[in-house]
Amino acid sequence: MNNINEIFAEKLKNAFGVRCKIKFNEPMASRTTFGVGGRADVLIEPEKETDLAEIIRLCNEHNVKFYVFGRGSNILVKDGGIRGVVVHLAGYWFERIVINGIEIECGTAARLKAIEGEAKKNGITGFEFLEGIPGTVGGALRMNAGAMGEEIFNIVKTFRLMDYSGKISEISAEEAGVKYRECEALKNAIALSAVLRGKIGEQEKISKKMEDFAEKRQSSQPKERSAGCVFKNPPGLSAGKLIDELGLKGRQIGEAMVSNEHGNFIVNIGGAKASDILALIDFIKNEVKQNKGISLETELEIIGEDL
Ligand SMILES: Cc1cc2nc3c(=O)[nH]c(=O)nc-3n(C[C@H](O)[C@H](O)[C@H](O)COP(=O)(O)OP(=O)(O)OC[C@H]3O[C@@H](n4cnc5c(N)ncnc54)[C@H](O)[C@@H]3O)c2cc1C
Repeated sequence: MNNINEIFAEKLKNAFGVRCKIKFNEPMASRTTFGVGGRADVLIEPEKETDLAEIIRLCNEHNVKFYVFGRGSNILVKDGGIRGVVVHLAGYWFERIVINGIEIECGTAARLKAIEGEAKKNGITGFEFLEGIPGTVGGALRMNAGAMGEEIFNIVKTFRLMDYSGKISEISAEEAGVKYRECEALKNAIALSAVLRGKIGEQEKISKKMEDFAEKRQSSQPKERSAGCVFKNPPGLSAGKLIDELGLKGRQIGEAMVSNEHGNFIVNIGGAKASDILALIDFIKNEVKQNKGISLETELEIIGEDL
């Protein structure tokens, strides 16, 4: 509690101590798939939209920054941790998955794996590409996550979001300002729920497609801890291929290494620090710029403070 002001911490505890899980000085390494990074001043888990709105209001009132985390599978937290509040949606309402014919209505803390599983169980096709993306619906919407030539916004009908004044609205996929790994509407808003839409399918065919996708991943992606692809693909090019062509696979800084299986993955081969990963990112960017004349942009979100 040393980094946020005591009055704010007290107010948080008084307002939410009973209704939400609150942790002070929470280690973020266990909250990200990379497994690195320092501590967050506060981690809070609202289970209701009204509580989420009140948390945002309190943060704004006290000029405290807040960050929304899903599974942390696209985030690198720096070694000095996060000054402010990490909001992690949790509980029945945010994790719900409801089937309505070929539509799936869900809270944004629902895991993609669970969504894909329910779609298969109910004979709904179109969700198979989610196989192996280890995030939540909220993170996938924010990132417009995609794989195997598909992306989440291909199956989004509408979603509800809360802006940073606590106002809730519902918009269609077409209104979301979606690009490759980007959703404009969620740059300054929190996704609350979504209606996803597939097509009628056959369970056997769905299973087979999921198995094929899983096999493809297993043969081309590393097993070590990572945050998936580090860089966005430049238009018409593959970032992984560029990195591979420069012979950078296996390049190591500290315990961070460019994966031998996939050039666009950096893996934590043991006790990597965020600073190792950041140094490797800079090194790759420089090499690609100098040798190929291309500026790589990170897909990975980097947040927090240096030590
Ligand atoms: C092994 C591995 C494989 C991967 N493969 C793929 C892949 O094939 N395709 C792909 O696109 N990605 C892939 N990823 C990256 C990652 O899984 C996706 O980007 C995923 O959608 C992120 O979801 P998350 O819940 O972990 O989000 P987080 O990492 O927690 O957050 C990512 C961003 O979303 C924001 N966010 C989270 N929840 C919300 C919310 N409710 N409302 C608004 N913003 C929110 C966060 O603030 C942050 O900006 C992979 C990662 C790993 C580790």
